[in-house]
Amino acid sequence: MYLRTLQEEQELSMLAPYALKNADSKGRVHPEKQDEYRLDFARDRDRILHTKAFRRLKGKTQVFVAHYGDHYRSRLTHSLEVAQVARTIARVLRLNEDIVEAVALAHDLGHTPFGHAGQDILDKKMKQVGLCFEHNAQSRRILETLEPKNLCIETLQCLCKHPTRSEKKEYNLSEQNYAEGQVVDIADFIAYTCHDVQDSVASGILSSRDFSYLPSNLLDTLIRDIASQGYRILEPYTNAEEIRTRSKGIFCFSESITPVIKQLKKDFQEKLYSHPLVEEQRIRGEKIISEIFDFLSAYPKHLPESFEPTQAKEIRIRDFIAGMTDSFAEEFWNTHVQKLTCS
Ligand code: MG
Repeated sequence: MYLRTLQEEQELSMLAPYALKNADSKGRVHPEKQDEYRLDFARDRDRILHTKAFRRLKGKTQVFVAHYGDHYRSRLTHSLEVAQVARTIARVLRLNEDIVEAVALAHDLGHTPFGHAGQDILDKKMKQVGLCFEHNAQSRRILETLEPKNLCIETLQCLCKHPTRSEKKEYNLSEQNYAEGQVVDIADFIAYTCHDVQDSVASGILSSRDFSYLPSNLLDTLIRDIASQGYRILEPYTNAEEIRTRSKGIFCFSESITPVIKQLKKDFQEKLYSHPLVEEQRIRGEKIISEIFDFLSAYPKHLPESFEPTQAKEIRIRDFIAGMTDSFAEEFWNTHVQKLTCS
């Protein structure tokens, strides 16, 4: 256990007072023997990286359907970019990089196929039967129930992006998340903002002239801005728990960057997300998921056996659909739903 102790001591001497530390961890949901050479948050990261749900991210749409071109982001490359941005900010602020990386890799595990269109239609369908769907809650459901990984309590708490009242109770959360959880949240925003600029230009929907008001290196500018703003706010805090008692989140952009972000959000909304090409993908994704949902409701025998047979049918359908990649959903729809309609 010498290697573990050494790493714990390194954390205590190198990380900021407000950072999460393995030595202070509340432990795992179910106690288990500690690893000889890896600290628990690093082990959580490894467990997440080796899930089937993580591998499926490569087949899930971010904004642009991946098969339209090899260079568009998928949920997998998006998650890796979030991890890179989050680790950079965490290192500058002397936060715990291992838990930040674990949470970044896990943050989109619960996403449906076909991007946000998939989430919206699945939520609408679930609401019709008195339930709901939210990708963040689904990410935790994967790691707690569908592919249980017995993660550390802090890792699960950091995965609660915007804690609802029931999550606050279930995960013992106060107003805010730990600084490490908040880093992933802002890194997610930075990553998708920057890659949506690139992907929208690559697709030809927008041109670099549309973004002439942006700084030349947007990614670097946003990371630098957030890190310096964050440092100023975090400096007085003396432990990780104090961060959670703040009434407001830590990270916000400076006054010089905020107007740029506002303009960018407006442009994305007006020119990218509502563009006929993106809209066409959205409508198709919604149709496929909606029809698969109705098909499985009528013929639940097509649900895989391994999905918690004791659970309500609607929850089994939700888990099955949310786990699909775009191509699996297309194939299932063609093989079962389309065949039924055509017969
Ligand atoms: Mg994301």
